[in-house]
Amino acid sequence: PRPIEVLNRALEETKEQRNRIAGGEAVVHWFKRDLRTTDNQALSMASAKAKSLGVPLICMFIVSPQDYQAHLTSSARVDFELRTLEIMKEDLAEKDIPLYVTTIQERKEVSGHMLQKFEEWGAKHVFCNIEYEVDELRREAELVKRCLEKGIAFTAVHDDVVVPPGTLKSGAGKQYSVYSPWLKAWTKHLHEHPHLLEASEPPSHNPPTARTTFSTLFELPIPSAPPNKSLPPSDRTRLAHLWPAGEHAAQTRLHHYLATKASAYKTSRNFPAAPATAMLSVHFSAGTLAARTAVRLARAANKPAQRLETGDAGLVCWISEIAWRDFYKHILAQWPFVCMSKPFKYEYSDIEWDHSPQLFAKWCEGKTGYPIVDAAMRQLNSMGWMHNRCRMIVASFLAKDLLLDWRLGERYFMEKLIDGDFASNNGGWGFSASTGVDPQPYFRIFNPLLQSEKFDEAGEYIRKWVPELKGVVGKAVHDPYGRGAGEEAEKSGYPRMAVEHKVQREKALERYKEGLGRG
Ligand code: FAD
Repeated sequence: PRPIEVLNRALEETKEQRNRIAGGEAVVHWFKRDLRTTDNQALSMASAKAKSLGVPLICMFIVSPQDYQAHLTSSARVDFELRTLEIMKEDLAEKDIPLYVTTIQERKEVSGHMLQKFEEWGAKHVFCNIEYEVDELRREAELVKRCLEKGIAFTAVHDDVVVPPGTLKSGAGKQYSVYSPWLKAWTKHLHEHPHLLEASEPPSHNPPTARTTFSTLFELPIPSAPPNKSLPPSDRTRLAHLWPAGEHAAQTRLHHYLATKASAYKTSRNFPAAPATAMLSVHFSAGTLAARTAVRLARAANKPAQRLETGDAGLVCWISEIAWRDFYKHILAQWPFVCMSKPFKYEYSDIEWDHSPQLFAKWCEGKTGYPIVDAAMRQLNSMGWMHNRCRMIVASFLAKDLLLDWRLGERYFMEKLIDGDFASNNGGWGFSASTGVDPQPYFRIFNPLLQSEKFDEAGEYIRKWVPELKGVVGKAVHDPYGRGAGEEAEKSGYPRMAVEHKVQREKALERYKEGLGRG
């Protein structure tokens, strides 16, 4: 059985037993990638439980260096989470709710430490939101059982996605693996189940006695980043300015975006020079903003229809992009082997990739000689974020121009992105390398120069991120050596093209065809 089924079963089979557990001296909410106090299902349930029992709510978060390692979490992301926790600690303290944050070095000791704390605090009810990666689902299923052995009810609920995975099935009763019919089913499901878009209640104020009973928890500081994930102070300051942490920043950005830019999203979203997308992905992936909240507010802004699929074209399109995030999480839950470095299309398991650390380094550093690719990689290295159009361009370039294994790029992205999210990243790489759920055939190969001219026509994005080409005028900025600006490029130290697109394209077609024959 799939890990999601194991967890669902564990929750289902223990439901009555868990319901029978009474009392306790506290209720716990375990924060993971749901770092917000508003519209948070499990937190809301935990608070309601605590209120009904007349006991305090305690929140906890575990900093797990080994989890960071296993998930290839970037230092920028760890820093964002820790900055968010500082803010949350203060917000929760205003309601007399303590936030316990500690670092547990060994991954295998996390569950044991949590159990020990539940017992120490006299907590009989623990709540959390579900994460859909294999290890996390397995851990939660095990926690349901281990907690029950100690008389503790552990409840995990769906919150990270708008529609829970496993819900949408085609007429033949199968899970969808193609986005368009899936989106139709997703929209229909939301019309039929409007409660899925309703906001959950914020946590209530704790009884004032919580301050004295759990005074030590209120005094505990938020730990600093583990040594292998800490940033130099100058990067911390820069990233804190670029990516203000916490749910208040997320709400401000969301409201501003919906009021000022979302209506133009459909026509402007593909141009990386224009700040036309919401830049909210870091908030969705750290959970400082719920996808549910964003869809609900976008639908409300879609006046007068207030629909998900008709009305303002920009808002409708934006909602459908948030749906992609749900889609990839559904794929991950249904086909968990994608978590194990396997392509979704198993018939593409045997493509022969080149081995070239030199070419890979050029790609990572933004020195391939293709200005649009280099601009994008430098944006990633500097901001921990890259525009979606450029993510597709550089991913296609790695697999189909450099002929390097897409998994190298998938990994590099996770190590750098502040919004790194396994499901969306894996889905995006599969899409771009033609090994994923996208039904397009492998012979759809991006031409990086045409992409550059089409989506960065004036070269504004390139000049911003590739200072060597700042002075190059006109179309030459897309291909300085090929379009008469070679001398200038040479002088500024801009590299020549590492590979020739036309040649590599042919090789890629051959390799994919051969791989498909073997697969
Ligand atoms: P907007 O365009 O404003 O979209 C709003 C939200 O919708 C985003 O914040 C995001 O949550 C969701 N969304 C939009 N496009 C996609 C998409 N194609 N797939 C899934 N969700 C989407 N997104 C991540 O959040 N984390 C990743 O690690 C990640 N890796 C990617 C890797 C590749 C190779 C590709 C092609 C895409 C990847 N994406 C990833 C998807 C997308 O590029 C980003 O979500 C988007 O660029 C974030 O910017 P935004 O918030 O301004 O998005």
